[in-house]
Amino acid sequence: MLDMGWIRENAELVRQTAKWKKVDFPLGELLEWDDRRRERRRETEELRTRRNALTKEVESLLRQEKLAEGEAAKEQVREIGGRLADLETRLAEAEKKCRELMLLAPNPVSKDTPIGESDNDNVEVRRFGEPPAFGFKPRDHVELGELHDIIDIPRGVKAGGPRSYTLKGTGVYLHLAVQRLALDVLTARGFTVMDVPAIVRPETLERTGFFPGGMDQTYELSGENRWLAGTSEVPLVSLYSDEMVELTEPMRLAGISPCFRREVGSAGRDVRGLYRVHQFSKIEQVVLCENDPEVSERMLQEILANAEHILQLLELPYRVVAVCTGDMSLKTHKQYDIETWMPGRSAYGETHSASNLLDFQARRSNIRYRDAGGRARYCHTLNNTAVATPRILIPLLENHQREDGSIYIPQALRKYMDGREVIPAPQ
Ligand code: AMP
Repeated sequence: MLDMGWIRENAELVRQTAKWKKVDFPLGELLEWDDRRRERRRETEELRTRRNALTKEVESLLRQEKLAEGEAAKEQVREIGGRLADLETRLAEAEKKCRELMLLAPNPVSKDTPIGESDNDNVEVRRFGEPPAFGFKPRDHVELGELHDIIDIPRGVKAGGPRSYTLKGTGVYLHLAVQRLALDVLTARGFTVMDVPAIVRPETLERTGFFPGGMDQTYELSGENRWLAGTSEVPLVSLYSDEMVELTEPMRLAGISPCFRREVGSAGRDVRGLYRVHQFSKIEQVVLCENDPEVSERMLQEILANAEHILQLLELPYRVVAVCTGDMSLKTHKQYDIETWMPGRSAYGETHSASNLLDFQARRSNIRYRDAGGRARYCHTLNNTAVATPRILIPLLENHQREDGSIYIPQALRKYMDGREVIPAPQ
């Protein structure tokens, strides 16, 4: 959410941002409702002041035993009371309408964000490693999963419906190993590991900027007024809603949670294998820091570097892209995605997404801290994937396969895999 005064002063920028982000934001309607709200607030204040003065007058007249005048003044107090009740209802209506419309206002983008229509316009920032040059016809992760009996898509779909999967044996251990690796890297880098609720209240999703826009992407628990979060960013940020937090140092949190996504609008896209599924597991980095664009930019680079470090430990080739306006969500100020090479797709596929939201979530969630001068300020929030699995198993299996069907296990994963160096070729 943005500050109303700021929206008024920067109306043109807000209108332009909505256009760039392709979001429907009724700015004119908000400004009209804000005018009404101001007018109704002013009238309410005036009437309250008038009623208080009259109430005192009634008491004074009655003390002086001027009964007829006292009664007349009393009548006026009653009349004002009636008008006030009506005005208060109309003020509450304007407050509600303003809040609803403000929830739709897009966060402005950073000056270095590329302007573009879709992910085709994202701009490559750097590459690490080279896609492997196989001297044989490589298998994709579905074929490798079947070969080693570690991924069973058909039975997953039988039990869970489309976009479901089953991991088996070594598949499960790899899935756990990448998460353990990510947790250990983040712990060593000052993050606090948190296991958070995946079932959340609708307010939690609204206050983190996922609702109302993302309602159709989220599973609702029937009859519960509770929803399944698509990422632990939602509960992690919300743990601190309505709090005054201590931020002498940025707060670095690593959430572990299942993630649930309806993937509405993805019909027919990425239907093979593990790429786009309804349920997956993610280790997420979330940072709360002071309200200083230089500090949050530094933190964005830090959480991006953490994700790159994990990919380097997994010995995977990847590239970092600066995400353009048309591929960004309402809440994002600046975003980088990391795309990891996936031989089965002959392309880089998104595996990580890092965002700086400035104080957008903190305003909605009312998370504040005291700055050096003792002033209460909304903090900045940021997030990035550390590892999302099973999607990361796609490049892991595909890049590290060998001609005989065996799969190399990167050094950094071995301690979580009983020291195994390879998934041997099936006999
Ligand atoms: P997001 O929270 O949407 O930025 O996604 C973070 C990461 O989660 C992505 O880069 C993917 O690695 C993973 N991810 C997102 N959606 C899915 C999905 N439907 N299936 C599997 N992995 C996903």
